[in-house]
Amino acid sequence: MDQLISIVLPVFNEEAGIKATIDTLLNYVEQQKERYELIFVDDGSKDDSVKIIERSMQQNENIKLVKFSRNFGHQLAITAGLQYTTGEAVVVMDADLQDPPEVIPEMIQKWHEGYDIVYGKRIKRDGETIFKKITASAFYRIFKKMATIDMPLDTGDFRLMNRRAVNQLLKLHEQDPFVRGQVTWIGFKQTSVMYHRQERIAGETKYPLSKMIKLALDGITSFSMKPLQFANIFSVVPIVSGIFSLGYLLISRNYSLSSIGITILLFTLGLLLLSVGILGSYLGRVLEQVNDRPRFIVSETEGFQERNKGIRHLHAKQSHS
Ligand code: UDP
Ligand code: MG
Repeated sequence: MDQLISIVLPVFNEEAGIKATIDTLLNYVEQQKERYELIFVDDGSKDDSVKIIERSMQQNENIKLVKFSRNFGHQLAITAGLQYTTGEAVVVMDADLQDPPEVIPEMIQKWHEGYDIVYGKRIKRDGETIFKKITASAFYRIFKKMATIDMPLDTGDFRLMNRRAVNQLLKLHEQDPFVRGQVTWIGFKQTSVMYHRQERIAGETKYPLSKMIKLALDGITSFSMKPLQFANIFSVVPIVSGIFSLGYLLISRNYSLSSIGITILLFTLGLLLLSVGILGSYLGRVLEQVNDRPRFIVSETEGFQERNKGIRHLHAKQSHS
């Protein structure tokens, strides 16, 4: 039997281009040897996106639709879509054809070579403002410096994941998920394919500056504790100034109220910042615990046959008694 590939497409007010996306994808899918299901997740669209998708569903049973009760955001739409997939591999892509379907066979090829996760890496971005290109590029580079995970540069949410990667991803229950970070975090064998990001076929970006900032902050706060330690770093300034001030006081023997006062003030400020930094370190641990990610993921075990048999034997015994 041919393998089933699930394609997940988050949709928010895409009536202008969704029909073209569906037609292009169906046309692509028909030429492939794998079987496909297209899972659209409507993220609370206020336009006719849903109607257009439903019309296509009547002609093709491989199209499925998950409707949100309101706009919950792109990242949660992807997460929800993944929950409904049944394919052995899952591809996530934009519903505006910015991620070209021609790249999917390359991703599948890499998956067949043994990779669990295949990222689409943008080598060129068409039709996006200079502002978007610069801010996106800066964000990925700053994120790389700060984060505890080694997320590949210039990758978005266009990627293929196999079943075991999707299943692990779905075990993460973060309230505001930064999916591309989560995918890096789960590990397994990861690679990327290069692609040329196209211009949107129709409509405008659904990512205004406010949503971009939220995404960036979600990324940093879920994969970096560095901001919590800033107070520690900043405390160096008043403490070092305090030491200089004390030195000056002792050498000049100018024990005026103001110079003593400044010295005390600097030390107090330093200690205060240091205390905030210490609080931050503990808060970081609390955050990690609240995030409740699995502490580790085992990809395979070897040489356990005997023990596993023993365990199964044990279970069998218990169920008989
Ligand atoms: N999207 C969504 N919910 C949102 C914003 C966007 O589901 O709140 C969808 C949108 O319809 C598109 C994808 O997420 O399929 C990426 O959004 P967009 O193309 O506007 O972002 P850009 O490519 O401009 O970064
Ligand atoms: Mg897009």
